[in-house]
Amino acid sequence: MSDGHIIIVKKTGGAIDEDTIIIREALKPELYAQILELAETEVISMPITFLWPTHSKVLTQSFGNNPAYYGQWGLPGHEGLDMRAAMGSSIVAAWGGKVIGNYKGTAYGWTIKTEVEIRGDTYEMIYAHMESQSKLSVGQVIQKGDFIGLADSTGNSTGSHLHFTLKKRGAKAAGKTDYKNDIIDPTNYFEELRD
Ligand SMILES: [Zn+2]
Repeated sequence: MSDGHIIIVKKTGGAIDEDTIIIREALKPELYAQILELAETEVISMPITFLWPTHSKVLTQSFGNNPAYYGQWGLPGHEGLDMRAAMGSSIVAAWGGKVIGNYKGTAYGWTIKTEVEIRGDTYEMIYAHMESQSKLSVGQVIQKGDFIGLADSTGNSTGSHLHFTLKKRGAKAAGKTDYKNDIIDPTNYFEELRD
């Protein structure tokens, strides 16, 4: 299963709704195999699609870039996506979730961190380099598209942009990422960046 996708099984010709969706990861392998044998079912791979959090849909640095530079922090490369964002422009939530951090970090500057479960996996999303402390409260639940803060260049940054990091709990232990702290590549979660 490729990252950023969920595998679902539905009745042939049937609508995809909460009643028909069966998550592959939630099933025992033998049960999944039995379901595939049923003539009236089909298997679909559906991408998990995040909302682009800045006005400009321009990527200014990809995931994994500049390994020599990021090596000084023990990273194989750039640990997220840099998105063009004019100073003072709005940053919105790529996905909903609970706010678990609202702080100023040395590297990330003013940062919002959210946590959410998507189809059985727990993800963390980090929005960095913002202008000032977000008005969001830790513990608050936000929706996809909700306002998070204003773009800037606080922390270790050379110009106004949004740095977005994605973590998937257990990814490191499962050997699905070379990055520390369960950081994964968010590229395929954005429709705009898919091949
Ligand atoms: Zn970055």
